[in-house]
Amino acid sequence: FMSKLPNISTSIFTVMSKMAAEYNAINLSQGFPNFPVDERLTAIVAKLAKENVHQYTPMSGYPPLLSKIAVLIQNSYQRTVHPETELLVTAGATQGIFTTILALVKTNDEVIILDPSYDCYEAPVLLSQATPIRVTLNDDYTPNWKIIENACSSKTKMIIINNPHNPTGKILTESDFEALEMLLEKYPDIVLLSDEVYEYITFEEKHISAHTREKLLNRCVMVSSFGKSFHVTGWKIGYLVAPDYLMKEIKKVHQFLVFSVNSICQVAISAYLDLVSTAEIGELYQEKRDYFRQLLKNSRFKLMPCEGTYFQVVSYETISNENDVAFCKRLIIEYGVAAIPISTFYDDGKDLKLIRFCFAKDNATLEEAGKRLCAI
Ligand code: PMP
Ligand code: GLN
Repeated sequence: FMSKLPNISTSIFTVMSKMAAEYNAINLSQGFPNFPVDERLTAIVAKLAKENVHQYTPMSGYPPLLSKIAVLIQNSYQRTVHPETELLVTAGATQGIFTTILALVKTNDEVIILDPSYDCYEAPVLLSQATPIRVTLNDDYTPNWKIIENACSSKTKMIIINNPHNPTGKILTESDFEALEMLLEKYPDIVLLSDEVYEYITFEEKHISAHTREKLLNRCVMVSSFGKSFHVTGWKIGYLVAPDYLMKEIKKVHQFLVFSVNSICQVAISAYLDLVSTAEIGELYQEKRDYFRQLLKNSRFKLMPCEGTYFQVVSYETISNENDVAFCKRLIIEYGVAAIPISTFYDDGKDLKLIRFCFAKDNATLEEAGKRLCAI
């Protein structure tokens, strides 16, 4: 059988979570919270379960949810979006990204992906018979706009940015956006895909969203995820924001990929949006980041900066010479803690002796993981 994706293998998040379960290790690999969901949200779901909310929603999403997403964007970024024409509820950010790429990228187009990069961008580019162009970020994980510009040509259809950045926690600055806007001015046909699933998880530095960049709005597809923002990754509810002319194309694919998304979760999130403040999301994770960093302070791991997301990258350079995949496997087997090797975020598998821990965990879990990691 001729594979359509010969070089794509099982996601590292699946591999590491499975291995963590096999060895009964503390799973700080795949990014998901282990603490209980807000009781206000579970109470809404319990009540809704008995109501008539179990049938298809309209294709673009449950209308009150679309309106509330528009209000959320207005309140967070002072941007007015039109719920009917510019918003789409998706089955997680993953489906939003896949659908966007399938709808907008054609055969022989090129798509720029910045490495280290999250793993869900490449496959839809390949399935569109387009070419992923992987450009490596600077050593401090800032984008090198000169190199990115050199990678652009008349074939470039899309640039994908991820801000705040998985796995490094890096966030883009005002000057990054200025450079990006200057670059895009030279290439009027390039669409920007801005993956902002961690938009509400930033700490000392404020997140700059593509929503606030006047020059980008007419050519940007922004993707977010309630899984990340409301600690319900298993619900798989995200959304896209795009200008009408792009959204029309995206919806053509969406209607045949899923048609519409899980109704009860959409209704629940719609009600929950009236109760919750996005400020509490960043505060919660800042506390967890600080606690986890504190726990690792006396370990032999070197902590990298973490400006956003719920991931902490560390170097094990002074501990071992093994490659990062081998080190992560040994970490599970010998020390009972699972992490993600950063080499898997690079096209060429660059081994920098870096691994990623997810700190979206209750304090007891973090404390036990800290104890085990300090024993190395
Ligand atoms: N983008 C990034 C950068 C991610 O880390 C993730 C993982 N959650 C996703 C997209 C996918 O989000 P979802 O779970 O909502 O599909
Ligand atoms: N986004 C999650 C992470 O980076 C993984 C989600 C998944 O496994 N698809 O860990």
